[in-house]
Amino acid sequence: MVFRWFNLINRMEMSKSVVIIGGGIIGLCSAYYLQKEGHQVTIVDQSNLDGGASYVNAGYLSPSHIIPLSAPGVMKKGLKWMFNASSPLFIKPRLDLDFLKWTWAFNKSCNANHVAKSAPVIRDISVLSQKLYDDIKTTENFTFQYEKKGLLMLCQTEKMLEEELKMADLAKSLGLEAKEVTKEEIKKLEPNVKINAIGAAYFKCDHHTTPQEFMTEMKAYLKQAGITFFTNEEVKDLEVQQGEITSIKTNKQILKADEFVLAAGAWSNLLSKKLGLKLLLQGGKGYSVNTEKPTGITMPAIMAESKAALTPMHGFTRFAGTMEIAGINHTINKVRVEAIANAVTRFYPSIKLTQEEKDNAACGLRPVSPDGLPYIGKSKKCNNLTIAAGHAMMGWSMATATGKLVSEIISELKPSLELTSYHPDRKF
Ligand SMILES: Cc1cc2nc3c(=O)[nH]c(=O)nc-3n(C[C@H](O)[C@H](O)[C@H](O)COP(=O)(O)OP(=O)(O)OC[C@H]3O[C@@H](n4cnc5c(N)ncnc54)[C@H](O)[C@@H]3O)c2cc1C
Repeated sequence: MVFRWFNLINRMEMSKSVVIIGGGIIGLCSAYYLQKEGHQVTIVDQSNLDGGASYVNAGYLSPSHIIPLSAPGVMKKGLKWMFNASSPLFIKPRLDLDFLKWTWAFNKSCNANHVAKSAPVIRDISVLSQKLYDDIKTTENFTFQYEKKGLLMLCQTEKMLEEELKMADLAKSLGLEAKEVTKEEIKKLEPNVKINAIGAAYFKCDHHTTPQEFMTEMKAYLKQAGITFFTNEEVKDLEVQQGEITSIKTNKQILKADEFVLAAGAWSNLLSKKLGLKLLLQGGKGYSVNTEKPTGITMPAIMAESKAALTPMHGFTRFAGTMEIAGINHTINKVRVEAIANAVTRFYPSIKLTQEEKDNAACGLRPVSPDGLPYIGKSKKCNNLTIAAGHAMMGWSMATATGKLVSEIISELKPSLELTSYHPDRKF
């Protein structure tokens, strides 16, 4: 009893006011763990918190994605696909200094040594995140869809199957559950829909969710826990004195706090620049298309040759894909949406997305760092700003662990994971 009172008083003394810039999945998870540590949290977001990457994603919690985007051969593929309007990866050449620096750093990271170093780091944060999603669901009685069926990497060619099986071997060597499945085994796993694939790598270690459900429950929980939300409010400027942010200026007000968190997704570098911190980051646009028609699909799968993903979510099936690095915009490129739809029919011949479904396609910007690892931590440039951005294709998978790390940094607790690889000041 005395110990509990001591703990409570201690937490009250340590309590800080924290403003989080950005209410996507990273901002919300940071708020969750910060309020659990007793801090007074405010979230500011320029949107209405109902769209973007954290809502349109494929919902995978996938430690299997241990290979960062910056892997050997990716730059070459990007250059080859530059002139292909329906390619899954598109890097639009631009005479923009930030983009050129990012491209240089990305190219430098596309090597086997970097992949070998990053794979265990990606595994650790994704595995911890899965556990924390589990904990949140149980502790808070959340009802969001959270299934543990694994993920199929469906292949139509021997060459791709060989590549995916190598990936499965690497995953196994890192302690993740993965194996080969034959055409016949795919049929057993997914008996109610015809699949055109010669085989697959089956990552039993992966889980899946319906993102909108988690976001809705988390926002409701945070509001009820006393977190203040300022929506449709853009952070325009940061006032800095002697290496500390004293206040931030939005289009509506000035906000002061002890600590700040930069979780502004693909926009984070625009704000960090104001501190003289050149965070290399590009928006990587991805699309998703939903169908509410019954598809017979019960297993999440990636159509490997097309790099398109599908997820059976609550009440609908989602198809997602493409990585379009072409600046910050939300223009829907119909050719790329069509490419996702065509991939679906090539792998699942009975499924044809309707024009209306394709017209309702949504997009979101992944915050892509050059080395495929997020930025989590404090820069030397600012004592009271914790950066939590740059999670690229893995932001959903890494979100809960990122939130926990942010809270541990601000609460001056021992971090659950070693932070060096995520340092915002790291060199590429
Ligand atoms: C099609 C697609 C499929 C994906 N599938 C998966 C998947 O299956 N698994 C996985 O792990 N990841 C997946 N991802 C990646 C994942 O969705 C992202 O990494 C993640 O959502 C990033 O979250 P975030 O909070 O950093 O950014 P966001 O969700 O973009 O949130 C950033 C927020 O900051 C706000 N903001 C920006 N600037 C300002 C400002 N100046 N003032 C106030 N607010 C500001 C924005 O309005 C936004 O709400 C996918 C992404 C896409 C697009």
